[in-house]
Amino acid sequence: MKKTKLKKTRKLLLAMALVTFLLTPLYSMMSDNGFIWEIDYDGCISCNLCAELAPNFISIDGDDDPFFTNGYITGGSSFYIQFSSVEDPDLDEAYNSCPSKDAAFKKQPF
Ligand code: SF4
Repeated sequence: MKKTKLKKTRKLLLAMALVTFLLTPLYSMMSDNGFIWEIDYDGCISCNLCAELAPNFISIDGDDDPFFTNGYITGGSSFYIQFSSVEDPDLDEAYNSCPSKDAAFKKQPF
């Protein structure tokens, strides 16, 4: 009785391992789950263009630095995590219009 149960468990584990092995490449080919947007203050020239183009996401603080209103600031950068595979058009326009694109305004899919 115990041997039969052990055999069934082994078969089940083997089947699970096989399914995981087959699905892993498919999962890695799936589209992005979202984006991590970053304003790095080292590269930012405080032109404030991003806040003008994406006012629903970016504000200007008392030091004339932009920050993500629904994000957080850590390590000299402001971050906003977008849990959507579709880029927001305002954020994308702000990102592409930034004169310090990829030095100050950065985008990382995850
Ligand atoms: S557009 Fe770029 S350089 Fe200008 S304030 Fe925004 S992040 Fe800084």
